[in-house]
Amino acid sequence: MGLILRTAVLTDLGLRRTNNEDCAYAGSRLLAVADGMGGLPAGELASGLAIRVLAELDAEDHGEPAAALLAAFDTASAQVREAAGAEAGRDGMGTTVTALLFHDDRVGLAHVGDSRAYLSRDGALSQLTRDDTFVQGLVDQGVLTAEAARHHPHRSLVTQAMQGQPLTPYSATLAVLPGDVYLLCSDGLSDVVTNDVIARILGSATDLDQLGRELVAAAVEEGAPDNVTVVLAAVG
Ligand code: CA
Repeated sequence: MGLILRTAVLTDLGLRRTNNEDCAYAGSRLLAVADGMGGLPAGELASGLAIRVLAELDAEDHGEPAAALLAAFDTASAQVREAAGAEAGRDGMGTTVTALLFHDDRVGLAHVGDSRAYLSRDGALSQLTRDDTFVQGLVDQGVLTAEAARHHPHRSLVTQAMQGQPLTPYSATLAVLPGDVYLLCSDGLSDVVTNDVIARILGSATDLDQLGRELVAAAVEEGAPDNVTVVLAAVG
């Protein structure tokens, strides 16, 4: 089955940041978002490096998609480590990475950090990734509710990101159905816009650029304290 993807990518500075450390990609097979960390200019460098490595997967068919993504994560991680060591002032440089690679009627997913992947299918939204964050650990232990986690002072503390250290990315392979809409986003969206609102917006239209603009607008309405990036793909 040859899947046809329609895609859209939108990134916005938000209302309080002066630079954009997010980087994103949407091609014929690959969707990816990366949210850099480590201050100027290291964060942008890290997210850009990761996306550049992943984007090479879009050029040709690599077989088993989750395995191809994990191999690309290893390559990107090595490049981030090398870049972090190449100049002073790049301590803590790194990036989140969340990526989907489509292959026949399946999609591979690989994820590290607190960017997210969602699937909207038959009007229902499911979150495909679990944040690698301190607060998500507390939610998993039943100590915090998901809503309390969204307002926690340490909500942006990531427990794992691509920072040149050995990684244990989450990965999965999922079945793809016609009509599926996939969303990748940086935490600039998901920190301020609830899953309920994301679900409502994704169910409101079929034009992906319009959906992207509405998602970004929802974050701006909530003050957009961070860069907001959304990658959308609809399966035809
Ligand atoms: Ca961010």
